[in-house]
Amino acid sequence: MKNDNCLFCKIVNGEIPTQKVYESEKALAFLDINPVNPGHILVIPKNHSENLNDIEEEDYLAVQKVVRYIAPKAAEALGACGYNIGQNNLPCSGQVVMHLHVHIMPRFEGDGHELWHGKAYESDEKMQEIADKIRSTL
Ligand code: AMP
Ligand code: ZN
Repeated sequence: MKNDNCLFCKIVNGEIPTQKVYESEKALAFLDINPVNPGHILVIPKNHSENLNDIEEEDYLAVQKVVRYIAPKAAEALGACGYNIGQNNLPCSGQVVMHLHVHIMPRFEGDGHELWHGKAYESDEKMQEIADKIRSTL
């Protein structure tokens, strides 16, 4: 399945050039053009889906299989001291390209990037209420 207006579908179909680093039957990995650090990779399903809300389980597992396979090897090849895996879902989370993609971001000592900052719950009751809300949907 392909979406004619989708940038990453065009990459899958070879209509837009990219630095492909790996592919499997259902997933493709290529360099991000605006990397957090050199060697930042995106892994996408070949079938179009916007994000985690609509992707078929099979396609998502195929993506994560590739992430697991290439992230440690890419980090080693790059001499990275570690790496972050990230995936934005929906625009308010920072998703810009609406074709699911997992970021593999190599990290280097002193590269200056920060993780997200945590905020404490107001109370144990509030934490319980939030957990109940989530559990009620599962
Ligand atoms: P996100 O904010 O999670 O939607 O991330 C989208 C990512 O796609 C950004 O990191 C962009 O740099 C990257 N990107 C956009 N266009 C291209 C392209 N043509 N080839 C490779 N990466 C791209
Ligand atoms: Zn697409």
